[in-house]
Amino acid sequence: MSSDQYKQRMQRKKDHIDSRIEEANIDKGIIVLLTGNGKGKSSSALGMICRALGYDMKVGIAKFLKGEQDTGEDTFLAKQPNVQTVFMKTGFTWDTQDKEYDTVMALETWSEAAQYLTDESIDLVVLDELTYMISYKYLDEQIILDALNNRPKNQHVVITGRAASEGLIDVADTVSEVKDIKHAFRANIKAQKGIDL
Ligand code: ATP
Ligand code: MG
Repeated sequence: MSSDQYKQRMQRKKDHIDSRIEEANIDKGIIVLLTGNGKGKSSSALGMICRALGYDMKVGIAKFLKGEQDTGEDTFLAKQPNVQTVFMKTGFTWDTQDKEYDTVMALETWSEAAQYLTDESIDLVVLDELTYMISYKYLDEQIILDALNNRPKNQHVVITGRAASEGLIDVADTVSEVKDIKHAFRANIKAQKGIDL
């Protein structure tokens, strides 16, 4: 390709991108849904939390499946004045094996999350591992969808978890599926600090 052709091609690309940027003129809170079986959903949510905190935005986090161990981000976020977090007070459901108890804990956590979703001072709400609360039928999907639809106009929401329901996919503005191609755990490498927890 000659340098003139290259220049023309890049100019066409630039015109296209510029016109798309001009068309995207709506400013509103969006829902980002991160689903799929691969690694990278909660850590991506963390990336957005980091971005938001960089702008002094306020963040509310509800962690619906709290592992036994604190993660690096739990320790880090506990020191952040602009972050409030509610943890579901139960381990993974295959440890407790008590549906009634898990349901009560899910409802308790949801009531705090629902509160975030009415609070205009919270710019970003993260509902980590929320999808399981719907698939295990701990929480009613419609109640969640109503709360998402009625939240403050400029509030962003990030939802993570495998096997997202159709309802969550419909209500979200951006949906990404993280595909599992390989995971170190299957090669018997244990969960690594700074990467997995
Ligand atoms: P991360 O928090 O690392 O972004 P995630 O939120 O996408 O992961 P979860 O299903 O919530 O995935 O699982 C959290 C933990 O399980 C992490 O330690 C992660 O490395 C591990 N994990 C995630 N996906 C897989 C997988 N496909 N196989 C084995 N372990 C996984
Ligand atoms: Mg996760």
